[in-house]
Amino acid sequence: MLNVILCGAPGSGKGTQSDFLVKKYGLQHLSTGDVLRAEIKSGSALGKEIEAITSKGQLVPDAKMIDLIDNFIANLPKDSKGVIFDGFPRTVEQAKALTELLRKYNMSAVMLDMFVEEEELIERLLNRGKTSGRADDNYETIKQRLQVYKDVTKPVATYYLHNNNYFAINGNNTMEDTFAQIDNILQIVTK
Ligand code: AMP
Repeated sequence: MLNVILCGAPGSGKGTQSDFLVKKYGLQHLSTGDVLRAEIKSGSALGKEIEAITSKGQLVPDAKMIDLIDNFIANLPKDSKGVIFDGFPRTVEQAKALTELLRKYNMSAVMLDMFVEEEELIERLLNRGKTSGRADDNYETIKQRLQVYKDVTKPVATYYLHNNNYFAINGNNTMEDTFAQIDNILQIVTK
């Protein structure tokens, strides 16, 4: 089983690279952002709670996110080729919980950390905001999300650097160039 953690700031291309990975490796894509947006769209009480947090560019509490991941892993099909964790873990607490969960199911994961310059991130997100309909793709919220990324999510990379398989990816160029780097790494780790 090939489990991939895609880490990177908002706008670094996690969703795009996930699509490439699904196509080439047949992995299951778990985007926590997509799951949360679906809950908001459902209009449930939980969705309203989540909307109040995500629209401010803040993070949903760890306990809720860890439950969501636990549930997802527990319900994976037996013949699953592996999972792309897109947007999780975003805190060191979540990373620790994921390590435990994967261990419980005798699994491990490769961490791919995508680096993109801040100016480029803002430009990409503002462009996406023109068509995405996402309440958090506006300048104010983008700035807030980038700050949360620096303060809370960046340390997740250090956690993996010390504990797991960690690979840094340059995500500044084309999406094809980024995928070529990812593909090279996965070819090596799956040998
Ligand atoms: P994304 O689509 O990955 O950019 O996520 C959109 C928003 O959903 C984030 O800005 C957070 O508010 C929330 N979110 C997504 N994943 C997580 C996570 N692992 N932990 C906490 N909040 C999350």
